[in-house]
Formats: sequence, structure tokens, C-alpha cells
Amino acid sequence: MKILVTGGLGFIGSHTVIELLKNHHEVIIADNLVNSKIEVLDKLAAITGVRPDFYQIDVTDEAKLEPIFQNHPIDGVIHFAGLKAVGESVSKPIEYYYNNLVSTMVLSKLCVKYGVQKFVFSSSATVYGDQPSPLKEEMELKKTTNPYGETKAMSERILTDTVKANDGFAVVLLRYFNPVGAHESGLIGEDPNGIPNNLMPFVTKVAKGQLKKLSVFGNDYDTVDGTGVRDYIHVVDLAKAHVKAIENLTKGTRVYNIGTGNGTSVLELVNAFMKVNGVDVPYEIVGRRPGDIATCFADAAKAETELGWKAELGIEDMVRDAWRFEQQNC
Ligand code: NAD
Ligand code: UDP
Repeated sequence: MKILVTGGLGFIGSHTVIELLKNHHEVIIADNLVNSKIEVLDKLAAITGVRPDFYQIDVTDEAKLEPIFQNHPIDGVIHFAGLKAVGESVSKPIEYYYNNLVSTMVLSKLCVKYGVQKFVFSSSATVYGDQPSPLKEEMELKKTTNPYGETKAMSERILTDTVKANDGFAVVLLRYFNPVGAHESGLIGEDPNGIPNNLMPFVTKVAKGQLKKLSVFGNDYDTVDGTGVRDYIHVVDLAKAHVKAIENLTKGTRVYNIGTGNGTSVLELVNAFMKVNGVDVPYEIVGRRPGDIATCFADAAKAETELGWKAELGIEDMVRDAWRFEQQNC
């Protein structure tokens, strides 16, 4: 298939491009580099031996995006492009709503116009709100705690309604849990601008000595050791789920959790990082981070049954690969 990958130079998009190319799909990338670097294109070429077509454009810009649909026989779109910093979405809500919603609307409009029938969307476990885990796809969605989460819930609705109104259009909503790790080559991984918000990139910076210590946000949750529990998923496993999703897409809207089904606490992750990599990660316990929930992990059975996809890599692989990338690149 010929697949347009928006945000294809970003963290998850770049790993997915590798898996698509490995599975003999053709890839066109559209990315405005707002949170990625052009060097990733060279790295993708070095890893796969293929240099995908690349367009440096903003996918909210319909006039710039339309020629790609006119000039290429696109079979499917995987839409990663979006702004993703939860805290920033609170201080810049319009930027987040505009970027994340207009991109989804422009892309789905062009898909319908040009008869592109397959669409895979990057959603998030955040759409479940605070509900007991394991989280299942059929659960009712609850209000999320920030504009970023709302853009995911709204995009899901926009795409679902577009499918209802257009027979030939089919969508997969992939609800990611906590993507971490990096490609085994150590060439691509997660390299956020500034001080990281998420746990794993913060841990790697502390291990490297670029940040002094990790603040563990709360040890009084009702969890195994009092610290927050999440379902960490290796980015390469996550990337493979996209290949299965687009290859299996036929009609309607389908929703899948993409997680391992296992919860890991902050301290369990930090201890695994230190043990596997033989490095120290100094930390201190501080107060809870506003908006955080105690526990969030997937029921991952539906993706296995319907897509034949299951996470294969564990916490040891995730901490090892995240550290290799940090040492080689950042
Ligand atoms: P990322 O920031 O590394 O990648 C996003 C890419 O999209 C970047 O390369 C950025 O330059 C590009 N982009 C953003 N807005 C654009 C626009 N208007 N036009 C063109 N390009 C644009 O993020 P990621 O971690 O790879 O996340 C990919 C998707 O998955 C996002 O939609 C994100 O919200 C979603 N998601 C991520 C996580 C996570 O923890 N990483 C969890 C759940 C969902
Ligand atoms: N966390 C932490 N210190 C940090 C960053 C995160 O203790 O510097 C905790 C956070 O409270 C949560 C877990 O690590 O329990 C995962 O947080 P992250 O921001 O990576 O993901 P999310 O909260 O969005 O699931």
C-alpha cells in the first residue's frame, strides 16, 4: 500500500515508518518539524535503505496538503501529527485545539474527496479519564483533565461521524498507553525539547547527569508501592500495531487499546532502569502532580483477538533501548 504518514519524523511516526517499509509498503511523510528534526529522514534511510518521499508542510494547511492527494495514489493515512504536551495544552489551549482538530478534519475531508479509504488515528488512553483499570474499549469515555485529552476525544468523534456519513471510509482509533523505548539501532528515539514532562525521558536525562534528580510525584496512591502505575509499551511494538491496523482495516470504525496489559509503578520502572543499565538514578519523593491518576493499564485482549497484535517486548527492553538512544544521541 502507499501510505501517507503525518508526523512521520516524530517519535512514534518514525518507528512506524520503519515497520511499514519492512512490510513492503510505500511511505510518504508530511511533517512540519515543529517537534522533530530533518536528520531523522537520513536515519530512516540508514536503517531501512529506503528514503521515503518527504513534504515539510503543516497538515492543517489544506491548500498545501491537497497536491499530495492529487499527485499520489494514496491507499491509507496514518495520522500522528499533533501537539502532545499535556501541561502546555493547558496554557495554550487554542493552539492545541487548532492544530490537533483542524489537522484531523482537513485530512479526513481530503480522504473522502480523493477516495482514500483507510485511516489510522493516534488516540490515547487519556480518553478514558479516571476509571478503574484494566481499561476496555467499550467503556464509556469520561471527561479528560486537559485540552490535549479533549482533542483526542473530539478527534475520535469527528472521525467516527465521518465514517457514518461516508460508506467507503474506514477508521482505526488506536488508544496508546505509555510509549517508551527506542529503535534497537540507537539511531531514533524520543528527544523532547527542553525539560521532559514524561517519566522515561526524564529518567534518562537524570541517569546521564543532565538533570540532578527525578521527582517522584507521590507515594501515597493505592498501588503496589504507593507510586503511580502505568502500562508502558515499547515504541517498536506500538509501531507494529499500526501495520496490523492498516492492513486489517475494511470498514466502519474500530477501536483498540495498544498496551501490554501490565501495570508498572514509577519505582519499579526506575529500579529496572538502574539494574538493567548499571547506572544510578537519584530520586526524591515529592507531592502528587495535579491531574494524575493512580493507575492506568489496558485490557489488551481485543487487539490480539482481532488484529493478531500483541506486545512482545518487556520493561527490560524498554529501559535498555531508551538508555542506548540517550547515550548515542542526546
Ligand atoms: P512527536 O511530537 O514526537 O511527533 C509528532 C510529529 O508531528 C512531530 O514530528 C511534529 O513535528 C509533527 N507535527 C505536529 N503538528 C503538525 C502539523 N500541524 N503538521 C505537520 N506536522 C506536525 O509525538 P509522538 O510521541 O510521536 O506522538 C505521535 C502522536 O501520538 C501524537 O498525535 C500524540 O498526541 C499521540 N500520542 C502520543 C503519546 C505519547 O506518549 N508519546 C501517547 C498517546 C498518544
Ligand atoms: N512521573 C514522576 N515524575 C516525573 C514524571 C512522571 O513521578 O518527572 C510519574 C507520573 O506521576 C505518573 C508516571 O510517572 O505516575 C507516568 O507519567 P508520564 O507523564 O510519563 O505519563 P502519564 O502520566 O501521561 O501517563
